[in-house]
Amino acid sequence: MRKPIIVGNWKMNKTIAEAVDFIKAVDPVCHDGATYGVGTSFLALQDSVKHAKNLIIAAENCHFADSGAFTGEVSVPMLEEIGVKYCIIGHSERRQMFGDTDESVNKKAKRLIDADITPIVCIGETEAQYDAGETETVIRSQLSGSLADLCPDCVKGIVVAYEPIWAIGTGKSATKEDAQKCCHIVRDQIEKMYGKEAADAVRIQYGGSVKPENIVEYMACPDIDGALIGGASLKADSFTEIINKTK
Ligand code: 13P
Repeated sequence: MRKPIIVGNWKMNKTIAEAVDFIKAVDPVCHDGATYGVGTSFLALQDSVKHAKNLIIAAENCHFADSGAFTGEVSVPMLEEIGVKYCIIGHSERRQMFGDTDESVNKKAKRLIDADITPIVCIGETEAQYDAGETETVIRSQLSGSLADLCPDCVKGIVVAYEPIWAIGTGKSATKEDAQKCCHIVRDQIEKMYGKEAADAVRIQYGGSVKPENIVEYMACPDIDGALIGGASLKADSFTEIINKTK
């Protein structure tokens, strides 16, 4: 049985004080039915880790090198030192605006796995690719690059977030049928790469305009094990509603 995992991705939102306020409000509401967490800015990570007893705290990126001349970057050992246990990598905003590629995402995934930090590996097609009927090809190709050469046992522990780019921050969420179909393709591709045991164990999230009103229908889909949530994770009230609806 896969334990559901619902993570808020705050992106470049919330000061340290705002992050701590949110965690104080939401942490006590978490329950054992699922893993709940939030991705915070690098600056807010340390205080967030200190205040969270139930929520898991995720970084939103990392560098694959341990140290060196990479101005403005944060390494995996730095995350390890402050007790971060999850890290979002390859988000479409990072791929589109900051040059992340399947190759760099793959290096990041390997380094995180070595440090025992769970990578949340994001993939998803653009609107043009969706319109051209290329969704399946894009999903399979992003996964074969981003998850190349991992040990099958390690793959069991990772999280993959399928986020169609056209659904991010647009209010235009994928239908539950489309989301299920794509998350099934993700699982099938992992089975092709690493076998059935790994594919059955890996947790797959849907992301893109998830909110309290639609979380239940996504969670009912057999291949959807959770959600990666942007806008609706920013307010303690709406994230609490999501937590309560996934008991
Ligand atoms: P929204 O939930 O705001 O559409 O964002 C999704 C997302 O990008 C999560 O990583």
